[in-house]
Amino acid sequence: MLKIDSHTHIIPKNMPNWTEKFGYGDFIYLQHHKKGFAKMMKGNQFFREIKENCWNPKLRIEEYAQFNTQVQVVCTIPVMFSYWAKPLDCLDLSKFLNDDISSLVSKHPKNYIGLGTIPMQDTELAVKELERLKKNGLVGIQIGSNINDENLNEERFFPIFEACAELGLAVFVHPWNMMGMKNMQRYWLPWLVGMPAETSRAMASMIFGGVLEKLPNLRVNFAHAGGSFLATIGRIEHGFNCRPDLVAIDNNINPRNYLGKFWVDCITHDGLMLEYVLKLQGSKKVTLGSDYPFPLGDLEIGKFIEDMNLEKSTVEDIFANSTLEWLGLTREQFIQ
Ligand SMILES: [Zn+2]
Repeated sequence: MLKIDSHTHIIPKNMPNWTEKFGYGDFIYLQHHKKGFAKMMKGNQFFREIKENCWNPKLRIEEYAQFNTQVQVVCTIPVMFSYWAKPLDCLDLSKFLNDDISSLVSKHPKNYIGLGTIPMQDTELAVKELERLKKNGLVGIQIGSNINDENLNEERFFPIFEACAELGLAVFVHPWNMMGMKNMQRYWLPWLVGMPAETSRAMASMIFGGVLEKLPNLRVNFAHAGGSFLATIGRIEHGFNCRPDLVAIDNNINPRNYLGKFWVDCITHDGLMLEYVLKLQGSKKVTLGSDYPFPLGDLEIGKFIEDMNLEKSTVEDIFANSTLEWLGLTREQFIQ
């Protein structure tokens, strides 16, 4: 059975030291301090240690083979977005990352599908980079759940979504820059509590702000099964109904109507929750995802789904059909 992992991260082994190059800021760079490992440094601060499977394409393919998974959709690590930087510098960095993924995809077209990153802080530069990355073989972009604390319904982001819809580029929304981060450092709460809330924030903003309504052809996938959005859709719908003066000010369509019109990945680590997500979304709108190679991901690449006794057609949808439809690709491209 064809298995495509819609949610994985990759980073070039060697990158310029952007902080030195641009003369400011806490850009990420890698210190290869021992074989098979690197320290991700944010400015001079240690951010996290990563392993070779973050950058080595062949090693990744081998690790995936253990879980019968042939294809990985790759995008950068959200901390690389650098939306806070000067726009031209962020463009420079985005191009570097996008070109690295383009070359990976062209070398391994049966194993990798690429999503790019763009300078969301500058609409014009962002749209130009969209056109360029499409020409270079990428099929979509990954963006953050907020852009420097601004929500995705802000007017200046709309032309970017419009361009994605016109160019047929898919969008992957990933939580980052988590709300309340400073106030909940203990217990990994930004990752465990902040991230699901961030994704829900992005979904609610795009729905209430009318982005999905105005752009029905925009193909958006939200990470981690949509964070807390689907689990709280009852509350969100009730809020829409009881306080339309607060909620329905830019779009008067019930948020529940959008279920099944976007994609979410399957990263729930919980069969019961996945059943619920499937009920709300339909199997054609739930993509296999892992968040590989990070420890909070499902590093058995959907094994829990194989153990769930779902209908074969449901599993086929999750493992391949949903991602192919989200990205506008065909199965034939990946048959070995
Ligand atoms: Zn991720």
